[in-house]
Amino acid sequence: MKKIIAVDGPAGAGKSTVSKLVAQKLGYTYIDTGAMYRAVALKSSHSNEDLTDIINDIQIELDDKARVFLDGVEVTKEIRTPEISKLASDVSKFGFVRKKLTELQRKMAERGAVIMDGRDIGTQVLPNADLKIFLTASIDERARRRFEELQAKGQSVNLDAIKNEIALRDKQDSEREIAPLKQAEDAVLIDSTNLQINEVVEKILTLCYTD
Ligand code: C5P
Repeated sequence: MKKIIAVDGPAGAGKSTVSKLVAQKLGYTYIDTGAMYRAVALKSSHSNEDLTDIINDIQIELDDKARVFLDGVEVTKEIRTPEISKLASDVSKFGFVRKKLTELQRKMAERGAVIMDGRDIGTQVLPNADLKIFLTASIDERARRRFEELQAKGQSVNLDAIKNEIALRDKQDSEREIAPLKQAEDAVLIDSTNLQINEVVEKILTLCYTD
């Protein structure tokens, strides 16, 4: 049985949806590292402090219901806006930001029985993970899914704008110098373009039980 699972991939590939379901099935802890970069972005958007000062004393907590707390205050919803998505990608290029969050993420994974998703989990944060997945889907499919998700939440959204936002964020995340988004050599590639959520979950569970 694989005790530490790393899931990486571009924006909107379904990483958090499937990781949460795999965590539920296995009784594992799900750790959403994107939420941590989003929390840094949210704090920097409210603050006049330098990013280095923000990083020095920031408190980020994730609970077992995937709620996110920034300096003790719940920000689960506030971090899910397009502005914070873009800002999270902007702040995530700084080495000192990545260093702090990578340390926190490694600590969170220490006890094992975790599934952690992000961009650099298999390559940087948990290079010794027992199972690494690189989850992707076509840009059109990823934009369509995000569009439907936001529409279902009652937000007024534009498909082309979402597609552009995702493409820009992927480019920025893949081309940054430190810990860019890329598939680890030993990661299993899953293209979910034509797969249902439960099919992706089943594939990952099968890999978890395979020696
Ligand atoms: O996964 P999510 O879309 O919430 O991540 C928001 C942003 O945080 C990403 O676009 C990326 O720039 C950054 N991120 C990162 N490394 C991670 C997770 C997220 O750089 N491990």
